[in-house]
Amino acid sequence: MLFSTLLLPLFLSLLSVADAHSHRLNKRLPSPSWHHARDHPVHALFRRDPGDDGQDYPDVGTPEWSSKYPNGPPDVTKMPAGWSNALKAAVSAGKIPNIPVSSSPGNVNPTYPAGHDPNGPEICSSTYKCRGQGEIWDGPDGTFGLGFDDGPLPPSGRLYDFLREHNETPTDFMIGLYILQNSQMFLQAVDDEHDIAVHTWTHPYMTTQTNEQVVAQLGWTMQIIHDSTGGRIPKYWRPPYGDSDNRVRAIAKEIFGLECIIWNQDTEDWSLTTNGTTPQAINASMTHWLTGPKSPGLIILEHELSDQSVQAFIDAYPVIVQNGWKIESVAQLANATNPSAYRNAPGTGDGPVTAGDILAPTPQTTTSATSSSSAT
Ligand SMILES: [Zn+2]
Repeated sequence: MLFSTLLLPLFLSLLSVADAHSHRLNKRLPSPSWHHARDHPVHALFRRDPGDDGQDYPDVGTPEWSSKYPNGPPDVTKMPAGWSNALKAAVSAGKIPNIPVSSSPGNVNPTYPAGHDPNGPEICSSTYKCRGQGEIWDGPDGTFGLGFDDGPLPPSGRLYDFLREHNETPTDFMIGLYILQNSQMFLQAVDDEHDIAVHTWTHPYMTTQTNEQVVAQLGWTMQIIHDSTGGRIPKYWRPPYGDSDNRVRAIAKEIFGLECIIWNQDTEDWSLTTNGTTPQAINASMTHWLTGPKSPGLIILEHELSDQSVQAFIDAYPVIVQNGWKIESVAQLANATNPSAYRNAPGTGDGPVTAGDILAPTPQTTTSATSSSSAT
């Protein structure tokens, strides 16, 4: 997807956010059954509660909430010291491969300097279909991994309503800046118990980013999700354009505990608005995949980016059902022994948290969302 396609929804989000329904965050972390994974650096970076970290988290959508986060590509000199220290420690420990940053002039597939094979063991770029260690590309047999990229945006509302009507829960791979700008839509996803995963702060090709930029892109998105969901720490991320490599995936895993979900089929629905594809072409692809073999299970790249891309899913939904696929949030499918979208989930840590370590539910207002959306 070209970056320019990202800007239109940004603009549209400003126009329509005032019409968004008001939601309040009322899904507390169940206590005391949620756990931090204490053996991972992410435990120290995101402590969930005021008692733990001394912070009092502002209500989602308020100006005080908005002011905590970057309004655009993050300035690496302004990220929390804990993140840069964790990066330095990981680099010193030899956990982050010292491979070149790629370049992508004109936002095309990133390339590496001569002598560095993107498909070789040194780089292993997912843009070039090299599957990195631990990366998830396929679902379990017979399953349809439900997931959508690039929200929350105004078109998300229709998708979320449709999913609620059909009792389906997706994984939303969310862009941090869009959460900042569409806080009420974000809260609808949380209210509907969608699984929230990380899709970076401003959607760059991640292999073009320096180590520090990778940390900031992931860290701020982790932070806003954590602060705005009562302390949930996302466990999964998806790189924009599916672009990751050994360096980027090591930073995601070592600093933030993030595991990567790619996809095994691509509708190219992001290009519906630019005539890159058509509803008929998507329908033909979907029918082909959905009536085909059930091994491996399907993880299809789909977007909540436009009314057209949302419609493409709505059109395909009956075909998914009719062909007997087991539909489940892709984050729930990714690890059968611990099906949770969050790092601090039952069974992933070493002890219960204490009562009072969660954010109390607080009423939200649409006026505050309008304030936050002025931050472009
Ligand atoms: Zn994306």
